[in-house]
Amino acid sequence: AAGYNYAEALQKSIYFYEAQRSGDLPEDNRVEWRGDSGLLDGADVGHDLSGGWYDAGDHVKFGFPMAYTATMLAWSVYEYKDGYVQSGQLEEILDNIRWATDYFVKAHTAPNELWGQVGNGTADHNWWGAAEVMQMQRPSYKIDATHPGSDLAAETAAALASASIIFRDSDAVYADKLLLHAKQLYQFADTYRGAYSDSITDVKQYYNSWSGYADELSWGGVWLYLATGEQTYLDKAVAASSLWGTNQSGLWGYQWTQSWDDKHYGAQLLLSRITGDAKFIQSTERNMQYWTTGVGGTSDRVAYTPGGLAHLDQWGALRYAANQAFLAFVYADWVSDPVKGETARSFAERQITYMLGDNPRNSSYVIGYGNNSPQHPHHRTSHGSWSDSQSTPSDHRHVLYGALVGGPSKTDTYTDSINDYVSNEVATDYNSAFTGALAKMMLLHGQGQQPQPQFPAAETPEDEMFVEASVNASGSNFVEIRALLNNRSGWPARVSKSMSFHYYLDLSEAIAAGYGPEDITVTAGGYNQGATVSALQPYDEEHHIYYTKVDFTGTSIYPGGQSAYRKEVQFRIAAPLNTLFWDNTNDYSFKGVATGGALPVKTAYIPVYDAGVLVFGELP
Ligand code: BGC
Ligand code: CA
Repeated sequence: AAGYNYAEALQKSIYFYEAQRSGDLPEDNRVEWRGDSGLLDGADVGHDLSGGWYDAGDHVKFGFPMAYTATMLAWSVYEYKDGYVQSGQLEEILDNIRWATDYFVKAHTAPNELWGQVGNGTADHNWWGAAEVMQMQRPSYKIDATHPGSDLAAETAAALASASIIFRDSDAVYADKLLLHAKQLYQFADTYRGAYSDSITDVKQYYNSWSGYADELSWGGVWLYLATGEQTYLDKAVAASSLWGTNQSGLWGYQWTQSWDDKHYGAQLLLSRITGDAKFIQSTERNMQYWTTGVGGTSDRVAYTPGGLAHLDQWGALRYAANQAFLAFVYADWVSDPVKGETARSFAERQITYMLGDNPRNSSYVIGYGNNSPQHPHHRTSHGSWSDSQSTPSDHRHVLYGALVGGPSKTDTYTDSINDYVSNEVATDYNSAFTGALAKMMLLHGQGQQPQPQFPAAETPEDEMFVEASVNASGSNFVEIRALLNNRSGWPARVSKSMSFHYYLDLSEAIAAGYGPEDITVTAGGYNQGATVSALQPYDEEHHIYYTKVDFTGTSIYPGGQSAYRKEVQFRIAAPLNTLFWDNTNDYSFKGVATGGALPVKTAYIPVYDAGVLVFGELP
């Protein structure tokens, strides 16, 4: 475990949640390439459902994995608070958990009404760009008494109850508020039973409730019991265990792990600790053995890669290993048998060090951390495409620090490819138990370690708004410029309806010949996607510099697709026919214009304005 800075890993893993924020970002937002987004979420149903987290590389707000993620993060603070304290990250983790719990409170609009998804999977996934400029419809979906969702409601109750515990010391009023919502949601879950994906059917392709809701009724009950000390919640948690799925031998599932779908793994571990009941302990130990020594020493064991990763499933392999690692740490810290404890603990450590770089590729799977970390995750906003394309630009414009990618194959191979959402997407649920496991690693091996002092390093923004220009046509008395006004903004991406540019002329020779700006006309011709052009205006009369303002005000230009990110205008600047007094080649703005039939090129000599503010280029 030497060689890894756990304080830094924790710092970055938490930062990832900040990068996933939807809604009205606060002043202390650390992610310079993120801005407000999804502000109208919920407007379709008359509620304010802004806030929360974007799920993964996409921008749907899937309430079910979001609640699971919040619960796992809160659980990790409950267990390993000192790991956060020692790495200086307690405030950061609490702030980021609060971002989700604030959203759940908003989404819980009546005792038996919870908005469980904002954004349509297909509509969202059909477009590739930054959250700040998305334009698709974002419908809101709910559960209620006639369309129940016990799993979603009980998981959200678990998130709010576990969060109430960790906020109680610092903000009792908030903790009480969370607990009130948690109790109502749990009652809703318990009273009106059903799987949420039968009510919110759009989610079936993404986060279907495979395991049903009994595991969440236990899980939510456990967290409400821990938050309130009320026996009825513990009783309900235990009672629901009789409905957990079993295999042919009647055993509860043990060949998987805690995940966004199935929380009986987490519930049975906590119930072991709380009740000491052998049935929970045995099932927990069977699961631990499945991931380590094999069940009862048999070959009934998860597959391992040659490099030592416990590889449950290709889709998000590392996330499952991290989830089990966190369970194993909690188990190891509780079990009295030192051999069982050591087996679990060393398994967990090995999985986490694999992720941080101790693997056959000697590469980190955490973006922006360690050696040779992933550069091309399947993540829209950090990629920063302006043309709705995974291949433009070829490199991501932003570093999504701290995100754990899906992970390698069964043979430890991995390709860092943006289009591979199976092995190279990132997700809020992936980082959740992983963050908790890092907090434990901090306690085990992080003595004296510090997070990065100046974090994150400032990015160097590329040119965001600019004009590309070429000569479209010319004659003895005129020149026609083809200009493409670009909005490739990414720090953050933004829609503008107020872009314009100035084209500067030097009329010295015309004035010397007795003419003036009034003798030269500017017309938007041939092709025009929304510009108006002004007559020549004085800029520097002493030096005979004049300009035309080419104004796209009212036209939306934004980095969201081929026809969205740039708008074209062809404009002609002309002296009267058969006159030769004006020479366009000495004009200031003509300097950067491509000639001789070349394609338009970016030019700094045509300054660009957004809402009247100079944003690119140089004045004469
Ligand atoms: C999306 C991913 C998603 C995958 C599977 C892709 O189109 O970009 O975010 O995980 O579909 O639903
Ligand atoms: Ca479930």
